[in-house]
Amino acid sequence: MNKPYNFFSGPAILPESVLQKAADAIHNFEGTGLSILEISHRSKPFVAAMEEARTLVKQLLKLDDSKEVFFLQGGASLQFCMVPYNLLGANETAAYLDTGHWAHEAIKEAARFGNTKILGSSADVNYNYIPKKWLQDFDDANFAYTHITTNNTIYGNQWSSTLLNDFIAKAKGVLVADMSSDIFSREIDYNRFDLIYAGAQKNMGPAGATLVVIHKDLLKKKVRDSPAMLDYSTHVAKESMHNTPSVFAVYVSLLTLRWIDAKGLDAIEKENDIKAQTLYRAIDASTIFEGTVQHEDRSKMNVCFRLKDKSQEAQFLKFAEENNLFGLAGHRSVGGFRASIYNAMPLEGVQHLVKAIQEFENKNL
Ligand SMILES: *Cc1c(COP(=O)(O)O)cnc(C)c1O
Repeated sequence: MNKPYNFFSGPAILPESVLQKAADAIHNFEGTGLSILEISHRSKPFVAAMEEARTLVKQLLKLDDSKEVFFLQGGASLQFCMVPYNLLGANETAAYLDTGHWAHEAIKEAARFGNTKILGSSADVNYNYIPKKWLQDFDDANFAYTHITTNNTIYGNQWSSTLLNDFIAKAKGVLVADMSSDIFSREIDYNRFDLIYAGAQKNMGPAGATLVVIHKDLLKKKVRDSPAMLDYSTHVAKESMHNTPSVFAVYVSLLTLRWIDAKGLDAIEKENDIKAQTLYRAIDASTIFEGTVQHEDRSKMNVCFRLKDKSQEAQFLKFAEENNLFGLAGHRSVGGFRASIYNAMPLEGVQHLVKAIQEFENKNL
């Protein structure tokens, strides 16, 4: 059987070589003769794996020594509350950009702990663009932090590198970003962000691990008494080993990080550009399909599109599966289609999808 092309949004596609090595480690982890599933997180080889993963993240994102890197559990969703819990005093205000479902969820959690100010929202138009007007008179002096979601996985919008650079140039205060679905997909100034979080299962590994990068200065801020598990300082001080980490998820993330490192982030970015261009070009050339997001804010990770005639939707999904293309249904709140083309998706997979789009169109004209 030909391996299906996997366009799921998360958990999502991993490189074939990573899957192979992960499978090997289930029987024999780094030559120990023990399984990665049964080895102590305090054992030397796993401590070394955790160290290597943290070091590789620092290298790949070009972080300086002011940053700490660690792995948590609870997904990006736990970070929605951990960020304000640690950084937003009850009388302080945090600024948020409401650019998608996950951004919206992050805002709801922050509102439990302090004040929130929405600098811009595209909720009323199904999040089909990233609001930018606010950038002109951005006053960050009074914000505990400003939070953005660099790629909006469900609606398929993304801060382009140009827009991110503009934001970085104008912003002065503490910057926080949810990069769950586009971290390690391109070269940007990661170092400028004071806190970055990302669930592993989109572009880094399997579900169960969450990457957090934090500026050391933020660890000094104490806005409320905190249980140890919810306090960033705990996890930094214990180097991601305060309690049992998600051993397997961290290890598979390490395998992916090694794969990214071997290819080079610049090469990965170029490939991602070509993949996205190939797919959007086909959608734009079609008379029956259309993209759902404004051109300049289109995601290079999650390509959202639909059929102008909605009644053909199920038919296209069936046709896609017959052509070995899986995971293309849009999120249940959006409908239509979503092709997630993370780092591990080869160009060939995108070309295969383009062919199916064209064939479907020819059959239905
Ligand atoms: C998937 C996703 C989340 C939620 O991640 P969980 O690990 O399920 O909590 C948050 N933000 C973004 C951008 C995502 O893509």
